Amino acid sequence: MTRQDVFAALQKKTDVSVLIVGGGVNGIGTFRDLALQGVDVLLVEQKDFCSGASAGSSHMLHGGIRYLEYGEFRLVREALTERNRMLHNAPHYSKPLPTTIPIYSWFSGFLNAPLKFLGLRDKPSERGAVVIKLGLMLYDWFTRGQQGLPNHRMVGRAESLDLRPQINHDIVCTATYYDAWMPYPERICLEMIMDAEAANSNAHALNYVSLASGAGDTVTLKDELTGSTYNVKPKLVLNAAGPWIDLANRSMGEQTQFIGGTKGSHILVDNPELREMLLGNEVFFENKDGRICLIFPMLDKVIIGTTDIRSDIPDPVCTDEEVDYMIELVSYVFPTMKIDRSQIVFQFCGVRPLPHSSASRTGSISRDHSLRTIEPDDKIRFPVMSLIGGKWTTFRAFSEQAADAALQRIGRSRTSNTKNTPIGGGRNYPKTDAARQQWLADLQQKTGLSAERVQTLFERYGTYAAEIAAFCVAGTDAPLQSQPTYSQREIAFLAQHEKIVHLDDLLLRRSLLAMLGLVTGSLLIEVADILAKELGWDENRREQEIENAAKILQTRHGVSADRLQIAAPISA
Ligand SMILES: Cc1cc2nc3c(=O)[nH]c(=O)nc-3n(C[C@H](O)[C@H](O)[C@H](O)COP(=O)(O)OP(=O)(O)OC[C@H]3O[C@@H](n4cnc5c(N)ncnc54)[C@H](O)[C@@H]3O)c2cc1C
Repeated sequence: MTRQDVFAALQKKTDVSVLIVGGGVNGIGTFRDLALQGVDVLLVEQKDFCSGASAGSSHMLHGGIRYLEYGEFRLVREALTERNRMLHNAPHYSKPLPTTIPIYSWFSGFLNAPLKFLGLRDKPSERGAVVIKLGLMLYDWFTRGQQGLPNHRMVGRAESLDLRPQINHDIVCTATYYDAWMPYPERICLEMIMDAEAANSNAHALNYVSLASGAGDTVTLKDELTGSTYNVKPKLVLNAAGPWIDLANRSMGEQTQFIGGTKGSHILVDNPELREMLLGNEVFFENKDGRICLIFPMLDKVIIGTTDIRSDIPDPVCTDEEVDYMIELVSYVFPTMKIDRSQIVFQFCGVRPLPHSSASRTGSISRDHSLRTIEPDDKIRFPVMSLIGGKWTTFRAFSEQAADAALQRIGRSRTSNTKNTPIGGGRNYPKTDAARQQWLADLQQKTGLSAERVQTLFERYGTYAAEIAAFCVAGTDAPLQSQPTYSQREIAFLAQHEKIVHLDDLLLRRSLLAMLGLVTGSLLIEVADILAKELGWDENRREQEIENAAKILQTRHGVSADRLQIAAPISA
């Protein structure tokens, strides 16, 4: 169903069992779960899907070893189980990541962890080898018996320096363990929406539609593209608006203070030397100020993060001071490494929707998730459940919890669960080398595409690549002149099938073009031309889209104006 079809249907039938406000990973995960139970469910997202906190993450699927010292054993165990499930259910977008911790003392922090657990200490403190070893033993123990990742290993100073001669020589040893990372979190969200809508014709997700207000038994939704409004009468509202949760409740006349967000920023740098030093690992470490930071290879670039600063604004930007902090933190681990600002190809920022807390240190606020319900009252006659907190890693479990609560409220029962449900291009994914080679060879034979092209599509989309490849060969195709690893029909396919409304949706959230620093003025024009044709934009709209995307890239993502100048006209 198109956007217009859904609006037309809403004008005829205003009743809906569950309305979900917010298309971040938690709203989308819950949408998918309810759709799979056969519930009629509508999700509205005021901007593009996965553009809030869910686009601001460090891209880690992790247990969160540091939460152990705050006694969050339940959360760590759940996160590790969910991490392993993601490796199984979305193998195209979840990759194992060996992670190395440089350690500067043997016994530091031995007393601090129990004190933090008992709430008697709330200050950053160095963690020594013994404390880290204990944490990693727990990490391994929580996942015993699951077909998961290798156990941790402590590596002595001499061997560590042999492996990484550039690492800070003050180390006493290093520890290496496994977590996982997601190259394409935004695509995971999109693919879950497509799976949900394919499974249930009464499940619809609309981007660029906001919850405007709510009163009595009615919620008013606003189409952010046209300004038109639509009334719906939900039995239940799930408020999954992340850092905007209190604002969304307020627009329905309910005053809440559920969220106390903290802002975190990241930069991506093009520095082959640093990438080389990482040896394919994440380096996960305590910075001088006690903040836990990370550096890891993101395809051919390096991601560096992050900050943790209280924020009342749900969508702030990365500041110059934060960029300085992130450049500086690299030299704490690799003292000879100097990052130049000109090597930054992209920066991004998000607000962690943490539960409201008076803790003096942001790092000590719980990363666990919970549901808070506002019962029907004289202002609104339907319950509103807010989804507070949570990690990207635990979205499935949190969504299950929210879906269970929703099912109970609307008098339905669960018919299936999502524990082993594959996501998008993770379906029928060939897991061994031999199976992968066979899959690629079959697709190559079916489509006549080159081995290299089939491999690129597979790495980008998993098994969903088969549909895209078939579409590409069904018409005249050519590589993009400005970025030949993408083709014109590939972009056309995304435009036709992936709810793209604006040019920046494609650059930032359907592809890694922006994040990997591949957007140039020429690319903006070339992609806008294809979208204009597929989405029926006139010349005016096309120009507006180019201008708007360039502005977003410059103001929110630090892409230089020079880079976005048009190098040479693209020929037809
Ligand atoms: C800096 C940082 C690093 C992180 N790193 C990690 C990590 O490495 N691993 C990990 O597991 N987790 C990580 N997280 C946590 C994780 O990203 C978030 O907890 C999770 O993405 C929250 O998802 P959400 O769906 O609740 O919120 P969001 O993704 O913010 O979604 C809420 C959505 O609601 C929409 N909305 C708001 N108001 C309205 C309205 N009135 N109408 C319609 N829509 C509305 C917003 O536009 C937004 O898209 C990190 C978070 C940050 C910020």
